[in-house]
Amino acid sequence: MMRRALVLAALALLAAAPLVLPQFQVTLLNYIGLASIVTLGLVLLTGIGGLISFGQAAFVGVGAYATAVLTTKVGMSPWLTLPAGLAVTLVVSLFLGFITLRLSGHYLPLGTIAWGIAIYFVFGNLDFLGKYSGLAGIPPLTVLGWRLGDERAFYYLIWAITLLALLVTRNLLDSRNGRAIRALRNRGMMAENFGVDTARLKIIIFVYAALLAAVSGWLYAHLLRFVSPQPFGINDSIDYQFMAVIGGATELWGAVIGAALLTLLKAWLRDLLPRLMEQSGNFEIIVFGLLVIVMLHRTRDGLVPYFARLIPTPAQRLPKKVPPLPPRTQPKRDESLLQLKGVSKSFGALAAVKSLSFDMRSGEILGLIGPNGAGKSTVFNLMTGVLAADAGEICFRGKRVDNLPGRDIARCGLARTYQHVHLVPSMSVLDNAAIGAHLRGREGVLSASLRLDRAEEARLRQEAACRLDWVGLGAHLFEAAGTLPLGSQRMVEIARALCADPLLLLLDEPAAGLRYLEKQTLAKLLFSLRERGVSILLVEHDMEFVMGLVDRIVVMNFGEKLAEGSPREIQSSPEVIEAYLGSVE
Ligand code: ADP
Ligand code: MG
Repeated sequence: MMRRALVLAALALLAAAPLVLPQFQVTLLNYIGLASIVTLGLVLLTGIGGLISFGQAAFVGVGAYATAVLTTKVGMSPWLTLPAGLAVTLVVSLFLGFITLRLSGHYLPLGTIAWGIAIYFVFGNLDFLGKYSGLAGIPPLTVLGWRLGDERAFYYLIWAITLLALLVTRNLLDSRNGRAIRALRNRGMMAENFGVDTARLKIIIFVYAALLAAVSGWLYAHLLRFVSPQPFGINDSIDYQFMAVIGGATELWGAVIGAALLTLLKAWLRDLLPRLMEQSGNFEIIVFGLLVIVMLHRTRDGLVPYFARLIPTPAQRLPKKVPPLPPRTQPKRDESLLQLKGVSKSFGALAAVKSLSFDMRSGEILGLIGPNGAGKSTVFNLMTGVLAADAGEICFRGKRVDNLPGRDIARCGLARTYQHVHLVPSMSVLDNAAIGAHLRGREGVLSASLRLDRAEEARLRQEAACRLDWVGLGAHLFEAAGTLPLGSQRMVEIARALCADPLLLLLDEPAAGLRYLEKQTLAKLLFSLRERGVSILLVEHDMEFVMGLVDRIVVMNFGEKLAEGSPREIQSSPEVIEAYLGSVE
């Protein structure tokens, strides 16, 4: 209620502003709107997706120049130049995305600076783009016969598009692919393990941000009715990136806050500083740089969390009952499920796994035990495509999987948890678990943006809620996953893996950090999974837990298989006792 009232009040203020404010403040608000559209794309790309771009102003320029050329030289109507400009931006951003998004770490921002500058010089050096003096005589926009000749009329168009962009971006994030996008920043590998094509998603958010920038450029060109290269250079790209940093990653409307704060601050400093210094110059850039450094030291998530705290979060509810997702057909019991044949992996001189072979049959719970550093987690990483084996073969249901990327292995029916928890801490427990069901949905980013994915989304969320209920977290669905105790976070990981409806579940030390009662719950859960035909490969140090649960055990030591057999055989094997069990006791 309270939240809705705040939103309505903000909209009313926005609608009334040009009626009461003086001209120069309306102009300022127009610039804030234009910058918000660009920044929104960057909040998605950088704040949420973790990809830094210092080339965004160049895309604004592509949108602006496209309409400038097409209206003044070809005589095209401005409403047709918008799709045309977006098409050009799509091609340019796809091309640049493919060549730059492969770069990692600080090479990515450097790459974006390079093409940002290149595009700027293209604007400045081509004759038919008017070189550095630009193109004038761009026609004004008309909406339903109404000529948007002045700033006040244009204001409503700019802010309508800003609000629309906010809405579409929110829809996109609140979906199957949205969850995957939120995992890109630090959990890309985990997302791949649940079937997400992270490279494709990165391109999608890169192109999306570029298209938003181009829309802003199109508006800009028709607002000023003149374009020149000057506002599309590297300085402006840096400004947009600052706005996104201020806006942060937690709330999309942070883009508007970031754009507003920076635009106002800049206007104010531009006025104030030359008077203080008694000479003219771009002193505001220096002050900005300092402010951003202070801000990054004080608050990594931008300023918006401070604003967000003032606004009550909406009460979250589960969707009403919907038909459950169709389950996978489990293989017949005792069918050959998994085969490792002579699998090896070295890290430099360290042989972490040495010619390891073992088999699993469907319906089996196999324990993989061994001292720390024996190579157990490395085996999991080899099986799920996180690491590539140096030698040997891994087959799942007769199909070789060791040469497949992680997302294709997930498709075969393998799901895992991690020894070191891999959740998206700021995302809700429910959304974290629902990532596991990624491959059980079909809807794409377009249908999500238009909210056409609701039926499927309700089923995915219901699946996640149901699995979380199984692991005893039904009362914590809407809490941020990072706020749960570590034991519960492990249970979220198990629920996430179960959402994939796996044929083989790989659990890496699931009982670590669990209290006695939680361990009992976990053991019960694993037994009931076996009843359903799910096979489990379990790495665990708690011997009481392992021995009571598993059918068979493989013992590893220094990357090699030391022994294999029933819990009873393993417990009485002298080698195993010497290498491992003795030391555990
Ligand atoms: P376990 O899970 O049995 O405790 P691991 O599989 O994690 O053992 O590790 C086996 C050995 O490989 C250890 O010596 C570890 O330090 C090393 N190791 C594991 N992963 C890597 C990696 N990505 N890079 C370098 N060394 C690694
Ligand atoms: Mg391990």
